[in-house]
Amino acid sequence: TMLHRIKHIDPEVKAFLQVTEDLALSQATQVDEKIARGEAIGVLEGIPMALKDNLSTEGIRTTCSSKMLENFIPPYNATVVEKLRDAGAVMLGKLNMDEFAMGSSTENSRFFATCNPWDLERVPGGSSGGSAASVASEEAVFTLGSDTGGSIRQPASFCGVVGLKPTYGAVSRFGLIAYASSLDQIGPITKTVEDNARVLEEIVGHDRKDSTSVSFEVPNYAEFLAQDVKGLRIGVPKEYFAKGLDEGVKKVLDEALATYQRLGAIVEECSLPHTEYAMPAYYLIATAEASSNLARYDGVRYGYRTEEAEDVLNLFKKTRSEGFGSEVKARIMLGTYALSAGYYDAYYLKAQKVRTLIQNDFNKAFDQFDVLLSPTAPTTAFKIGEKSGDPLTMYLSDVCTVPINLAGIPSLSLPAGFVEGMPVGMQLMGRPFSEGTLYRVAHAFE
Ligand code: GLN
Repeated sequence: TMLHRIKHIDPEVKAFLQVTEDLALSQATQVDEKIARGEAIGVLEGIPMALKDNLSTEGIRTTCSSKMLENFIPPYNATVVEKLRDAGAVMLGKLNMDEFAMGSSTENSRFFATCNPWDLERVPGGSSGGSAASVASEEAVFTLGSDTGGSIRQPASFCGVVGLKPTYGAVSRFGLIAYASSLDQIGPITKTVEDNARVLEEIVGHDRKDSTSVSFEVPNYAEFLAQDVKGLRIGVPKEYFAKGLDEGVKKVLDEALATYQRLGAIVEECSLPHTEYAMPAYYLIATAEASSNLARYDGVRYGYRTEEAEDVLNLFKKTRSEGFGSEVKARIMLGTYALSAGYYDAYYLKAQKVRTLIQNDFNKAFDQFDVLLSPTAPTTAFKIGEKSGDPLTMYLSDVCTVPINLAGIPSLSLPAGFVEGMPVGMQLMGRPFSEGTLYRVAHAFE
């Protein structure tokens, strides 16, 4: 079974923080009994899956890979977890990530780094590195990750699997431990496009418990897979093929574009002129929201509390100094600074304006094109330790993915080829709620 496979493989890959063996066995038995009774079962029933450790699971430790939540057991399930349970999916466990989803390599975990199954000396990407690595190494059929600036797509690219960041508001964030609420989305990571569509179908839809969740008619995503791409217009934003893009990655992307042309799609260059401002705007907005979201970890209500404190203020200070890792602290400081009275207009407000310009770039492009295509990341997976001392270089591995979160549009990464044995991902971007079209275009290439 999958549980045996995890026992065998995970000591090397280290994707799992926790394996919920008893739960998995009892859920699987229930499905077996249902089949024995001759009852019909759903598409996800009995399918083994695992969850990024920032998704709240009732009665199951949910750590965000942080000392702050090392022993935190949520009293309720995230909406996506409820939905998957109702769909009969079998829960294998919780997956490693960068602390509070801040990072691009899964090296920022309080516990250990996860390895890329294609080369154990390389990172799986991040922050959903455990979610991507476990699917790539077939320790789970599907997993869920979260994506604030690329955290589903970049690890999917590094690990050679399919990852989707849905339209903002398509999937309920209730029970997802917040990083940057206006950017966060939960999405599926799978081996194939079809699997991805089937999982998305189970988790999307309006939820009263998330005020940003959108009410829309949920399409049958799998139906899109049968359609070809003849006459479909694919835009290639030139800013995403700029300096910093690895030559090998570029070659794989050029071949993919040629394949689409052969399949009858119309491929044309286009421009998203404000792309260069996405990164600074992202790091202001994301850190500002993070500083607010992470204010709740004060050692009083739940989570880690320092051993000894002189008074309440000291309790807050010591708890937060001891409970958060250095990347998280750096971001809280940056975000607090950007939101402070004298600097708000110069930084946060400015960043919000840039965000609108980026959204307008995409709107204009989608007047002309059905989808846009780019690399998911400028390089393949890098070596463990290679960038961990240099956060700015690390941030650059998300240049192609952060603009999408600022715009709120859906985006999918799928395997496009290899450079020196390491997988390369290509990113498809679409209009809001056009996940079906992304699946269609991705499936035509597979
Ligand atoms: N690497 C980016 C960051 O650290 C994206 C993270 C994410 O999408 N959660 O903010």
